[in-house]
Parts: sequence; structure tokens; C-alpha cells
Amino acid sequence: MVEKWRKKYLTALPAVDVVVTNYQQKNAALNYPHALLVQAAQTVVAQLRQKILQAAAEEEVKQLQSTIDGVVQQMEAWLNSLHQPSLRRVINATGTVLHTNLGRAPLAAAAQKAMQEAVSYCNLEMKLQEGVRGSRHEHIEKLLCKLTGTEAACVVNNNAAAVLVALNTLAGGRKAIVSRGELVEIGGSFRIPEVMKAGGVQLVEVGTSNKTHFADYQKAVDEDTALLLKVHTSNYKIVGFTASVPLSELVKLGKETGVPVMEDIGSGLLIDLTPFGLAKEPLVQERIAAGVDILTLSGDKLLGGPQAGIILGKRKYVEEIKRNQLLRALRPDKITLAALEATLRIYLTGNPLKEIPVLAMLSMPAAVLKERAFSLAQAIEKRAAGTLKVEVREDFSYVGGGAMPTTKLTTFVVAIRHQRLELTEWTEKLRLGTPSLVGRIQDDWLLLDPRTIDEAEKEEVVQCLT
Ligand SMILES: *Cc1c(COP(=O)(O)O)cnc(C)c1O
Repeated sequence: MVEKWRKKYLTALPAVDVVVTNYQQKNAALNYPHALLVQAAQTVVAQLRQKILQAAAEEEVKQLQSTIDGVVQQMEAWLNSLHQPSLRRVINATGTVLHTNLGRAPLAAAAQKAMQEAVSYCNLEMKLQEGVRGSRHEHIEKLLCKLTGTEAACVVNNNAAAVLVALNTLAGGRKAIVSRGELVEIGGSFRIPEVMKAGGVQLVEVGTSNKTHFADYQKAVDEDTALLLKVHTSNYKIVGFTASVPLSELVKLGKETGVPVMEDIGSGLLIDLTPFGLAKEPLVQERIAAGVDILTLSGDKLLGGPQAGIILGKRKYVEEIKRNQLLRALRPDKITLAALEATLRIYLTGNPLKEIPVLAMLSMPAAVLKERAFSLAQAIEKRAAGTLKVEVREDFSYVGGGAMPTTKLTTFVVAIRHQRLELTEWTEKLRLGTPSLVGRIQDDWLLLDPRTIDEAEKEEVVQCLT
């Protein structure tokens, strides 16, 4: 039974065509298609009907703007929201450098410029000298060879795709051996056993979760073994009573048995970051030098480039991968290739620790962070005295992106509390602002870490907060 008062409000809701006509009279200059106006009116009226049906008491319904004018106003808001892009710039104040939810690596200026150039026509698949058809893979292959010492290379959309196509090419329909300690799950449902299955590869697990020995691999190799696979346990660490077989040993076994060795290294680190307090990570060029047959890595993790998957290794295997039909489905676009080429060129001829934002942020000295935190805190305090409580504290930043999960980098954060607003309400406002501001929440405080805030964004941060 619908109550009388509820019925009254439901019957009083304006008809869609009446609302549309009213809207058109009021906004004669706007040229939305009629079907879109009908959709807007239907949406608003349906929302009002729902609210009337769900209201606990008549008082609630009285507050609704359900007159024709009210509905037209809500239509205007609905139509205005269509102009707001869903993908927007965010100021990352979390201190997590490779924040996967915020798009991982911010790109170097040179990479941004290269992308801009590539949006128009470019020589993606043309050899300009001869004027004949070329390959999109050639632009980057030579650069990767120079940088890492590899014989050959090709690039796909992301590292998950790189692993999939490499596994399918080298071991499709056959067996690949993996240590039980390396059957990892990377965020976003990338799991080694499942990717192997998707690639048509039969998984042969060896060893235990904490210990795998050379002999375990050795015993498992038979005439149906197509691959020895090693996976970098990027986002977790096994500590205590552990053993794993180093890549060099697997390469030795591969040579003895004639089975190729592949490693999924995850992050593509090209520069040793231990002098800046980061954990020792295998370098790409070290792995190539160790004789691995195929190496796969991400473009947008520690390498600091765009989302991409990079496949390096022996020419024979890379050429086989290039011929795999799957590669056509996984190939990167010209904009990605442009950004990746420009990023890699910085490693070759530029100053990566300065020009590649990810590396600059990770290597930023604590003294600089301290100075930036105090300067930001001061700027905020000056403009928000009375409404915000501001302090500087020593804290930690994280690498993120599933890399170096146990590494904590000393930083200095600006801790802020709003004197009137609830933290959840306030931080929502900041997230929805233009630009959006996302920080770290700890107890009742919002923490802003200058490590991931560009100097050029400082004034914007102050504006967002005040
Ligand atoms: C991150 C990661 C992947 C997935 O790479 P994407 O570029 O995100 O597709 C695969 N393997 C390892 C070891 C990783 O760390």
C-alpha cells in the first residue's frame, strides 16, 4: 500500500515531455540532441520517483526539488556533468612513487614532447631513407640493445602481455618449470599459473614455498620441457629459512639441457639505486650479461616510462616471438612507442636521475624533502591560518607499483587537520577538486609527502587546501 502523501507527490511529478519543452525554452541557445534531453529528463524524474518511494516521511519529500523548474535545474546539472572528463589530473601527495591507482610513472618532459609529436603522422612503419615499409619495433630495438647489451628486443602493451606472448611462443603446448616460491600474483589478477594456462603452457612446479634447489630443476627436466622460468617476486619477500636458484645457475642448466631460460623481472631497473637507500634490485643489463634467453619487464615501473612490456633476449627467440600471431593483438601504439623511445634515450644520452621523474623522486635527499615540507607547510599556514592545523613530521615514502615492498624511504611530510570539517568529508572535497589532490591519511591527519609533489604543483596544492 502506497501512502496517500506519497501518491500525491508521485502524481505531481512533471511529465518528461513537459520538462524537455521547458528546458528548451529556457536554454534556446544550447543545441543538445532531443534524445539526450529526453534521457536527462527521464533520469532526473526517475531519481525523484525513487527518492519519493524510499522516503521515510513526508518531511523528506518536501525538500525535493520536484517542480518543473526544479527538474529543469537538475537536468542542467546532469547535462553539465557530461562535459567533465572522467580521466583527470591528480596531484599525488601520497609519497608512493609508482602509485598504480594514480597511473604509475609520471613521464619525463622529453617523453611528453615526443608523444605530442607522434599524435600526428609519423614514420611508425616506414623507413624514411628508403621510403619503404618498416617495422614499428625497429625504433626502439637498437636503443634497447645499446642500453642493455641484449641481441634483440620487442615491445608490447604491458609486461603481462610480454609474459603471455613469450610463454606462448617458447613453451605453448609444452611444459615450463617454475619454482613454487615464484608462483606470484601481481595486483589486478595477474597470476603466473593462470597466465601460463592462458598461454597454453603446462606448469611444472618444483621445490617448496621457501626452498628450491638446483637439483629440483635438474630432476624435473625431461624431453617435453620447453622452458625454465624464473619470476621476480616483486611484491612480496620470503624471509628466514629460504633458498632459491640464482639465474646464472639456471642458465647453466639451460645450456646443459638445451632448454631456454626466461625471466620475468617485473620492474625494469637500469640504474643501481642502492646509494639512495633503496634495496638491491637486479639490473636489466646484469640479467642479460648472465645469459638469460628471454627477459620481460614493465615500461612504467622503475624504468619510469609509459605503460609497456619490454621483451629482451637472444635474437633467435625474439624473432620467434615477433612472428607469433598474438603479438599483433598486443602491439603498442605510436604514442607509447614515442614516449618509451624518449625515456630510453635519456638513459643513453641524458641525466636519468634528474630527467626521469621516478628516479628523481626516489633519489631525492632527505634534506631537500625536509626543506620542501617546511616551505609547503609555511605557504599553507600563511593562507589558511585559523582553519587548518599544520605540522611537519618525519615519515616514510614507498616505492609502490609492487616493487621493493619492504623499502621505506625517509621523508618529511606536511600533516594537516581541518579545524571544522570531518576528515572524510574534507578529503573527499580535495579528491573531487580541480585538480584533484590525493594524500595519505593517518589517524586524524592528512599527510602530504613532498617527494611525489612536483615543485611546479606547490602553489596548486596550497590553492586546493585553501
Ligand atoms: C608488475 C609485474 C608484472 C605485470 O606487469 P604490467 O606491466 O603491470 O603488466 C608481471 N610480472 C612481474 C614480476 C611484475 O612485477
